[in-house]
Amino acid sequence: MNPPGYAFFEGRIVPFAEAKLSVMTHGFMYGTACFEGIRGYWDEQAGILAFFRLREHYARLHRSCRILKIGLRYSVEELCQLTAELAMRNDDRSDVYVRPIAYKSALQIGPHLNGVSDDFTMIMLPFGKYIEAEGGIRCRTVSWRRPSDGMIPARAKVNGLYVNSALAKTEALEDGYDEAIMLTADGAVAEGSTENIFLVSDGTLVTPPVSDSILVGITRDTVLTLARRELGLPVVERRVDRTELYVADECFFCGTGAEISPVVEIDRRAVGPGKIGPVTRRVQSLYLDVVHGRHPGYADWRSPVSIP
Ligand code: PMP
Repeated sequence: MNPPGYAFFEGRIVPFAEAKLSVMTHGFMYGTACFEGIRGYWDEQAGILAFFRLREHYARLHRSCRILKIGLRYSVEELCQLTAELAMRNDDRSDVYVRPIAYKSALQIGPHLNGVSDDFTMIMLPFGKYIEAEGGIRCRTVSWRRPSDGMIPARAKVNGLYVNSALAKTEALEDGYDEAIMLTADGAVAEGSTENIFLVSDGTLVTPPVSDSILVGITRDTVLTLARRELGLPVVERRVDRTELYVADECFFCGTGAEISPVVEIDRRAVGPGKIGPVTRRVQSLYLDVVHGRHPGYADWRSPVSIP
């Protein structure tokens, strides 16, 4: 992976190599940081890099920061503007991934959050596929449970929480699978290591509720909106039993990185007939049309930046 040209670091755009933190930084020592993952889609013909649902990502970053008592000094609009400035400076003419991080910046021992200084940084790098999902992926429910709201809130995109995702994904990979499915502390289906999950059951889209230890995904919201408005599919947010995974007609993951990733096998059982299903295909192709600006609606979901 090529290092990015520039980063936004503690108030200004600097060459990437200059964006460095002390090893004593609170956010590094205790995981007390919140982040976002945002995609920008490159349109070669128009010379435009369009960030997908940029405002919603920054609104979620603000919510995460409230939970973690991190003072984020930029408004949503200012963060959108900073993203555009960094994109122009980096001059990437390809799809990109943006990683803004708000963190506890004090150099101190002790994990408390009050009276501890905060700062903000953002990197942006060329980025292709996160999951190779051509023929669909194979998953297993892993032994690592998703922490519940009273442990580490999954609703906040907290850096430290990704230890849980790392353990889960590693267990799945070491056992020969492509991705992990995590259950809640009491055994309901929660989400993938970096994706939300959907099942298709008798023509209805089913996904775990926001109160079941999941990140409230922006792609999840995109899928729910498109399924209702464009595909006329019934959608239900409700608690999902593990064995519902085994009897579903179709299953897919969704996330900024994963986009729509069809799941064709779970715990050594084929999902439906074991190949990508028709509903998943429709959702996937509509999603890709919307993010790439090929669909006439939803222009307000794209924040275009002209790269001259
Ligand atoms: N769950 C987790 C744990 C994630 O890390 C992500 C990726 N941000 C998602 C779900 C999907 O969220 P989004 O659609 O907002 O990218």
